[in-house]
Amino acid sequence: MKNQLKILIGLLIIALIVWFLVLNQRPGRILETDFLDVGQGDAVLIKTPKGQTVLVDGGPNNKVLEKLGKYLQPLQKRIDLIILTHPHADHVSGLIEVLRRYSVGLVILNGVYLKTDNYDQFLNAIEDNKVKVLIAEAGEAIHFDKDLEFDILSPNKNPAGLAFNKNSESFGTAGNDVNDTSIVGKLIFNDFSIMFMGDATSRIENRLLASYGSSLKSDILKAGHHGSKYSSFTNFLGAVAPKAGIIEVGAKNFYGLPSQAALSRFKMFGANIFRTDQNGDIRVLSDGFTADIYKEK
Ligand SMILES: [Zn+2]
Repeated sequence: MKNQLKILIGLLIIALIVWFLVLNQRPGRILETDFLDVGQGDAVLIKTPKGQTVLVDGGPNNKVLEKLGKYLQPLQKRIDLIILTHPHADHVSGLIEVLRRYSVGLVILNGVYLKTDNYDQFLNAIEDNKVKVLIAEAGEAIHFDKDLEFDILSPNKNPAGLAFNKNSESFGTAGNDVNDTSIVGKLIFNDFSIMFMGDATSRIENRLLASYGSSLKSDILKAGHHGSKYSSFTNFLGAVAPKAGIIEVGAKNFYGLPSQAALSRFKMFGANIFRTDQNGDIRVLSDGFTADIYKEK
């Protein structure tokens, strides 16, 4: 009888330990990055494990509002941070209405002024809503948590004061390309990372290679300039060594993007390619060590 009691107490203790372990098992901290299908343009929503919300670009129109409605909690009217990679319409236009409808904590800009109606409206919306603005500069980092940050790798020096006119800027010529003033950054969550290229071309890729070398290595690469042939060159892909390349591009777009050249360079490095024109919204979930990619279609 005494032995039976001992066994019973022993079993009870084991049961309590098991329950203690079960109850203490918290869900893992998950970083969510949604590459939104907003047509021909870029818009990426990041939700940190702490619940901070970040929007990198806003796409060419108000489609981004529909996506935010879909992916944020119904009463979530707060965007903690907006990063506008550069002031082209396919990145900035959707942000105008976002600034009017959401409470935005901070906007980070590349410091380049582009004379267009869209960009002027965007700047007015910032002013009307009294949103704080910072100008990005390589070497700075945004710290979301002790193990989560966004490192700014480009533009190299503050291009504030650089002004462009939509009629005078010419793509592909040295020194006069708004795309190459894009904010380029690496989102790092423990061992996991995503490189955001904006619309930067190989000229910037080469500069990044010279400055950062092997530390460019990232699990996922948001391809520069919608998969154009002027971006994602082999030397750069070799250093980044992405397991997946994500291309934000509109179906049947006027520019014929993404280019076959960029696609085959990604394939050469064995990277899986995800495209918003074919896959819809692309969601990346990471616990800081591994990541899963989900396609809408
Ligand atoms: Zn673009």
